[in-house]
Amino acid sequence: MRAWLQVAFGGPEVRRLTELPDPQPGPGEVVVDVLACGLNRLDILQRKAPVIPVFALPHIAGMDIVGTVAEIGEGVDAGLLGRHVALDPVVVCQTCDMCVAGKTYYCRGLRTAGSTRHGGFAEKVLMPAVNAIPIDPSTLSLAEYASIPVASVTAWHGLVGVARLQPGETVVVPAAGSGVGSAGIQVAKNAGCTVITTVGSAAKVDRAYQTGADVVIDRSATDWVQAARAATGGKGVDVVFDHVGGPFLQEAIDALRIEGRVVMSGTTASDHSTIRSTSLFHWGKNILAHGGYSPAEMREVIGEYERGALKPVIDSVHSFDELDQAEARLESGEFSGKVVVCRQ
Ligand SMILES: [Zn+2]
Repeated sequence: MRAWLQVAFGGPEVRRLTELPDPQPGPGEVVVDVLACGLNRLDILQRKAPVIPVFALPHIAGMDIVGTVAEIGEGVDAGLLGRHVALDPVVVCQTCDMCVAGKTYYCRGLRTAGSTRHGGFAEKVLMPAVNAIPIDPSTLSLAEYASIPVASVTAWHGLVGVARLQPGETVVVPAAGSGVGSAGIQVAKNAGCTVITTVGSAAKVDRAYQTGADVVIDRSATDWVQAARAATGGKGVDVVFDHVGGPFLQEAIDALRIEGRVVMSGTTASDHSTIRSTSLFHWGKNILAHGGYSPAEMREVIGEYERGALKPVIDSVHSFDELDQAEARLESGEFSGKVVVCRQ
């Protein structure tokens, strides 16, 4: 098979299309012919430098994988052969104390396809059969399915599973143009909330309204914290969904109402945040965090897209051989929605 193999850290040149042996399925595993794969910010971060301790080179990135089951290992349902599937990238051991307790997102041996094991920027990928979720390409296109997994399920988990949004609440979902942001806006709207979002330039304002936001703040022209507080009559918002990290966390706290809550869910800007403690405890504000999403949430979110409650927001689709262009698009910051590569 051909795969985009990363052999060092640096620019796009550290990752080349390389001929590799086809993976072979062991017991309980499937080999999937990859047809589409979505890009994520982590692909670029890990190309430049190690982010996660267990990351190892050589590496194949690509977390949001869609394809057809080409081969099955011993003990796998033969009905999966030839099926179109989306892959849950999170692979767990099923045997550690956390897995046994049903908290697989804290699995002590957790690996993620495209992050800490080989992913979907390849013609084939090896995964446990339990990670293969049958999909219906007559409902959504393969590129649309490949736009769902990590970003949308992260948004769902953070807003529905952790923040437990209530109808009538006001929520800030920042970065409307990002995959997590565009999904989060829709999830919060469906929960009956008023949604405030941010964009990095005036050019992205219209698209953010089209995605469903009630208030769009252009960060390049306005202090978003002041604008969000003003939109609530100075009271502050009920919830801020922090999938950004870095300095954003303090801004999120400042935007909250008394006893409001921040949900921590990502660190695409930075893994290091400094906060003023009194801004949190004096006003009974809360920071919530709750690991990763569960396999059930992944299936639930795909179902939401299939029934039309959530709409894929795709910026652009590129060919598999043009991964460099796709990644440059993501790195430019000018995208709005998910960037996907397809082999069809
Ligand atoms: Zn485990």
